[in-house]
Amino acid sequence: MATPSTPGVPSYEVSLTGTPDGRTWSGRETVSFTNTAAEALPEVYLRLWGNSDGCGAVVVTGGVALPDCTTVKFPLREPLAPGKRASISFDVKLTAPDREDRFGRSGEFSFFGNALPVLAVRDAAGWHLERDMGIGESFYTVAADFAVRLTHTGNLAVPSTGVTTDGLAIAKQARDFAWAAGPFRSGSSVSPGGVTIRTWATPTVTAAAVDSARSDAAASIDEFGRRFGAYPDHEIDLVLNDRWTSFSGMEYPGFVLLISPQSPVVHEVAHQWWYGIVGNNEYADPWLDEAFATYATDVFEGNHRPGCWPGTLPVAITRDMGYWGAHSTSYGTFVYTYGSCMLHDLERLIGTPAMDRLLATYAKAHWHGVVAPADFMTAAQAASTTDLIPFWQTHGIA
Ligand SMILES: [Zn+2]
Repeated sequence: MATPSTPGVPSYEVSLTGTPDGRTWSGRETVSFTNTAAEALPEVYLRLWGNSDGCGAVVVTGGVALPDCTTVKFPLREPLAPGKRASISFDVKLTAPDREDRFGRSGEFSFFGNALPVLAVRDAAGWHLERDMGIGESFYTVAADFAVRLTHTGNLAVPSTGVTTDGLAIAKQARDFAWAAGPFRSGSSVSPGGVTIRTWATPTVTAAAVDSARSDAAASIDEFGRRFGAYPDHEIDLVLNDRWTSFSGMEYPGFVLLISPQSPVVHEVAHQWWYGIVGNNEYADPWLDEAFATYATDVFEGNHRPGCWPGTLPVAITRDMGYWGAHSTSYGTFVYTYGSCMLHDLERLIGTPAMDRLLATYAKAHWHGVVAPADFMTAAQAASTTDLIPFWQTHGIA
């Protein structure tokens, strides 16, 4: 089972007004939560991951900022008893920095990924206040309900997580809330399975690239729905920019940023399950989402990577982002490539029907939850009569 964590059952009510160019958004954020731990909760922490590359891009009022400015401590007026609910409210101002990134600028377009302040998580290991290592993802959040109103007077399209009606974006059981702003060219279609695929392209993205991204997303979101459990939301937004050169894309709930035409659309769609629906502590266990998204993409493409496992590895694929941050050139090879190879080898060992059952059962058991490595190992063992201990040992999973 996943480790119990607190604060739980979060909900975010956010009302922001954007400048006409869509670069700066300011307003009010209220975060409500339940103390889901067995003991009183004296404080909560907000993560301001948007400040990872420098303070000031995200500013909140109140609380006590920690020195690296990506964390703000909010002492509660009185310790919150187990099972009780409380909220904190603060003013917030976000300014997209001049950089190519998930939170950044590109020409007339602004991107707000990992920008909105969200609650830190406390579990058996304590508060998780690890810094963003700058490669991959170091984020750890629990599923939450968001109601976000983004008001502006500019000539802007503002795609976001969730479904927007009359200017209010609603997202249920989402791990984060991201948006973009700019004069995007938009379009939409509905997948055969009934998911609305919206596209938001910068001006020089070709119509062919938009069509290709939309059809890849439609096919994969339906296929993954059949394999892992139906996509629970009504729509997904694909934001396509062909002017990024140093940023390659990022997944958010119901919203992905893609460099066009190179970004792997199917990989980011796979993250809707492996990260979005089945969550994990991305700092501690990056393989629990990246290896699975890579494997899912391989299977979608009919590529089972025979013979891909290299034998004994010098480093386990299960290392945390602290390690990969210091060994960044190995990160992709070990976590994505060898991580997916491990899953292909597991499929070869237990058989494709058992592997398919395993992933469907594992996703269902941890739907909108948070998994740890032991959860996957337990689910895998339950799906097969083969003793998997030697497999875990030869594949560096412990
Ligand atoms: Zn990924």
